[in-house]
Amino acid sequence: AKEQGRNQICSYKQEMDEAVRRRLALEHDLRLGLERNELVLYYQPQWSPHSHTTVGVEALVRWRRGDRMVSPAEFIPLAEETGLILELDDWVVRTACAQAKAWQEANLPRMTVSVNLSARQFKNGRCIELIREVLQQSELEPELLKVEVTESLVMQNAEDALMTMQQLRQLGVGLSMDDFGTGYSSLSYLKRFPFQQLKIDKSFVDNVVGDREGAAIVQAVIGLGKTLGIQIVAEGVETMAQYNYLTLAGCDLIQGYFFSPPLPVDACTTFLQQDHNW
Ligand code: C2E
Ligand code: CA
Ligand code: CA
Ligand code: CA
Repeated sequence: AKEQGRNQICSYKQEMDEAVRRRLALEHDLRLGLERNELVLYYQPQWSPHSHTTVGVEALVRWRRGDRMVSPAEFIPLAEETGLILELDDWVVRTACAQAKAWQEANLPRMTVSVNLSARQFKNGRCIELIREVLQQSELEPELLKVEVTESLVMQNAEDALMTMQQLRQLGVGLSMDDFGTGYSSLSYLKRFPFQQLKIDKSFVDNVVGDREGAAIVQAVIGLGKTLGIQIVAEGVETMAQYNYLTLAGCDLIQGYFFSPPLPVDACTTFLQQDHNW
């Protein structure tokens, strides 16, 4: 039994070593990937059922690693742990703002661009300087940039987050609460923080059709948004039934595969041009 225990510990240690090794390799590759411009932004359109146009896009990062497109779920957590996220977010904000400006200069209708910022950018207020500088360089109207922060991020350090948000608002940038409903005390935070937009998490959108309680929750959130003057976005909308329900319920913006998946920049440009010609 003792022998067996030792073997178990041994193989456990081997697995640990293997995991550490893989992680280091990934970190090394990601660092190189950043230098070699292997990161790409995809853009997912946000549709207004009211005006029947695309009024914004969300920038979502991918990593072209060899012949594989790596999803952010695989490398964002690592980037956050290692501090590489600062460089990554830097690149995302620059690229997204430059692209938004380019679309504007191509005479597409006014459109906002949303970027996701990590907790780390928020905590040290570093994103203020970054965004100020990028707005200046890109000459993008601050109103056209939206910063998405998750509910859980806000919760981690409410005081710091609030200060950063107020500074972002002073720059004229929009604030969006991402993944709404997945954390705690959402409601009180909505009142306390200067959000102009709230994104109902996909897990709720999944339940609006055929689930009375799920539908009631979403109705309540939309009602709350109206009362507080906050724009409501439904994310992860995949079906016509969901689309119809949410539109009828008064949702301001629809984002999801039903309307369009995230698109590479050229495909998105084409999409926006067609949308314009409707
Ligand atoms: P998120 O911000 O909640 O983004 C929404 C995710 O849902 C995206 O996954 C999007 O591709 C996916 N999605 C959109 N519509 C649908 C749909 O109808 N059905 C389904 N099943 N999925 C849909 P993605 O692009 O893999 O991104 C995952 C997460 O990675 C994002 O969640 C965000 O938290 C993070 N992320 C993505 N890009 C960045 C970035 O540039 N910086 C940072 N810090 N985080 C990012
Ligand atoms: Ca987001
Ligand atoms: Ca989200
Ligand atoms: Ca999410």
